[in-house]
Amino acid sequence: MIDDSPAMALPPVLQRLHHVTATVAEAQPDVDFHAGLLGLRLVKATVNFDNPGVYHFYYGDAEGSPSSIMTTFPYAGRGVRRGQVGAGQVTLTRYAVPPGSLPWWENRLSGAGVDVERTRPSLQFRDPSGLRYALIEADGDARQPWAQGGAPVVPVDRAIRGVHSVVLTVRRLDPSVAFATGILGLTEVERTANRVVLATPGTEVGRVGPERDAPRPGTLLEIEEADSNLPDGVNGLGTVHHVALAVADGEAQLAFRARLVEAGVQVTDVRDREYFTSIYFREPGGILYEIATAGPGFAVDEAPEALGRTLCLPSWEEANRPEIEAQLSPITNPADPEISLP
Ligand code: ZN
Repeated sequence: MIDDSPAMALPPVLQRLHHVTATVAEAQPDVDFHAGLLGLRLVKATVNFDNPGVYHFYYGDAEGSPSSIMTTFPYAGRGVRRGQVGAGQVTLTRYAVPPGSLPWWENRLSGAGVDVERTRPSLQFRDPSGLRYALIEADGDARQPWAQGGAPVVPVDRAIRGVHSVVLTVRRLDPSVAFATGILGLTEVERTANRVVLATPGTEVGRVGPERDAPRPGTLLEIEEADSNLPDGVNGLGTVHHVALAVADGEAQLAFRARLVEAGVQVTDVRDREYFTSIYFREPGGILYEIATAGPGFAVDEAPEALGRTLCLPSWEEANRPEIEAQLSPITNPADPEISLP
C-alpha cells in the first residue's frame, strides 16, 4: 500500500526564552541599575508602541540576542500605581553569570548599597522599583556579554550572559504546568511538591551546578505554587508584565498561533514590534505569555556598534518625534557617558 498523504508538518517549537518585560518606576534609575550596575548593554531605547509618551528600554548581551533580554517601561508619573508582586505573575528573574563570580557580584552590589540575600546557589536582590532578581552561576553559556558594559566596567569573565530562568508563581500548579507542557510543548526537567522546572524543547543539556545536569540557561521556566499568604499580583510599577518565548520566524509563529486557537486559547493577532513580531495570550494561572520571533533583531534601525545610542521610533511614529521627545525625561547612560536621550 502506498502512503500518498502529505508529509506531516513538524509542530512549531519554542526555542528559548526571548525576553522579560517589566513596568518600572523612574527611567534614569532603571538605566543606572541595568546598564550601570548590572552591566547589561542598552541595546535599544525606544518608546512603548502602545503608549509612545513612555520609554521602552531593552537591555541584553552584546547583540541583544533572544533570551538575553530584559525590557522595561518606566511609568512613574504617568498615572500608573505601584503594583503588587504576587500570584499570577513572574515573581523572579534570574540572570546567568559565569561559575565562581558570585562573590565578586556580592561585593559590587553591596558596595552600591543594594541589599543582597545569599540564597545558595544564587544572590537575590531588588531593582529600584522593587522587582526581584537573582544572579545564578551557570556553565556552558554561549551568549556573548557586552564587553564594555557597566560603570565601572564589569570584566567579561564576570559579566551577565542573559536571563537564566524565570519563576512563575500561580495559585494552582497543575493547570499551569499542563498548559506549559501540553500546549506550549515545554519539557519537564525537575519536579518537587510545589514547583516544576520546564525547558524549551530540543535544547542541549549543560551543567548548571556542580551537583546536577540541567538544560541550558536561557531555556528555563520554573512554575511554583504560591504560598497561601501570598497576595494576588496586581499589575503596576515594580512588577513583571509578561514573559516572552522565542520562535524561529514568522511562519513558526503563525503555526503556533493556529495551535493556540485550536486549543481554545484567546490569542492576539500578530503585532509588529519592529525588532520582532509578537502574539500574546494568558495561561490558566493568569500569567501573560508572549511568543516573539528571533529576528530581525536590534540592528534593523541602528548599526550593531551603535545600538541604544539614539532614540529609535517605529516608522509610523517618526512624524510625531518632536511631540514624543518632549514627553520623555532626559536620560544619560552611565556606561556610555557621551550619550544622552531622548
Ligand atoms: Zn514583550
